Amino acid sequence: MQAYRAALLHCLADPREVGIERSYQYFEDGLLLVENGRIVRIGAAAELLPGLPAGVGVAEYRDALIVPGFVDTHIHYPQLDVIASYGSQLLEWLETYTFPAEARFADPAHARAHARLFLAELLRNGTTTALVFATVHPQSVDAFFEEASRLDLRMIAGKVLMDRNAPDGLRDSAASGYAESRALIERWHGKGRLHYAVTPRFAPTSTPGQLDLAGRLLREYPGLYLHTHLSENRAEIDWVKELFPERRHYLDVYDHHRLLGARSVFAHGVHLCDDECRRLGESGSAVAFCPTSNLFLGSGLFDLARLEGHGVRVGLGTDVGGGTSFSQLQSLNEAYKVLQLQGQKLDPFKALYLATLGGARALYLDERIGNLQPGKDADFVVLDCKATPLLARRLEQARSLAERLFALMILGDDRAVRETFAAGRSVHRRDV
Ligand SMILES: [Zn+2]
Repeated sequence: MQAYRAALLHCLADPREVGIERSYQYFEDGLLLVENGRIVRIGAAAELLPGLPAGVGVAEYRDALIVPGFVDTHIHYPQLDVIASYGSQLLEWLETYTFPAEARFADPAHARAHARLFLAELLRNGTTTALVFATVHPQSVDAFFEEASRLDLRMIAGKVLMDRNAPDGLRDSAASGYAESRALIERWHGKGRLHYAVTPRFAPTSTPGQLDLAGRLLREYPGLYLHTHLSENRAEIDWVKELFPERRHYLDVYDHHRLLGARSVFAHGVHLCDDECRRLGESGSAVAFCPTSNLFLGSGLFDLARLEGHGVRVGLGTDVGGGTSFSQLQSLNEAYKVLQLQGQKLDPFKALYLATLGGARALYLDERIGNLQPGKDADFVVLDCKATPLLARRLEQARSLAERLFALMILGDDRAVRETFAAGRSVHRRDV
């Protein structure tokens, strides 16, 4: 058993459902007890310290705030090298930057080195669970899962299905994509803390035959994820209309091929109609809100209130490399502004919820991760309240927890992550 002493903050429920006061738990001087990779107790240090069994180590963190590990509900691991590439919107972005970068993942050594860098970057930013696009090459998924497994991380990923409208070397066929996905599922799904996601890139790059087989995989193996893109950009939506003239709207393409339901996660959903919102909600599907990407690629403004009004589960995504930061604190900074432009307020506790328990709920993993309740995986982050001179000064002047939390999400980034723990093991420690 190991104990961690610091200020502790975690969400218990969606503030939208229970009100802000009842949505979180905070211990100004708290103690977190961890054993065998799980959280066993959380409480006030003054109450728990006297009963601590002899010999239990207590790690103390000053000027720190422990929160649950962040959950990223949409990111592309092969796009580390295209982050911060200039001047295009979605479709041109794919042609110019993404596809050439993804072609290099035919080489397993490249994939392995890249997976290692990518996971290190996630952990530097305090993200302990992510829903991840690999490339069309099965070896890209093997490399990713091998590295994630070495660190005992809870990760979800899958091979991209793409049998049309993509360059040579990046296309599979409906049959080969199905067979390769099956082999990867058999190899990785449910192994340790890993989960597999059936991953058609988006409707324009899959034939109806391939989408049918994706749906078949979901029915053949229980507990699989479906991970794709939806309604990100106007030109993309027009293209889907051309390719699937018989479908009512973009979401109906996926619905027709039976790809909606629990554990189906659609990235973006920026330009949805009411019927699409309704179907997402009633099917138990989730949408990944990717503010830095939506702004960077000029895609549009995500309407959180509307999606939640339809009962849709919403998680937060970075969408690197379309997104501009691995940091979920920075995603929240931009999310706040995206909602400001639509007259919506992102309360800091709701923001923390989106980056942790809300993401876990979107992924149907809230039994295992998302907060610091006893029994859950010991995935947590030690935030440094003095990470930069400006942050230290601003937080010193904050009068309430809400104010401190808000300043942390506006000013914080990877510098504010002092240490990251996964399954009770330290997997990143910032050099001081
Ligand atoms: Zn994406």
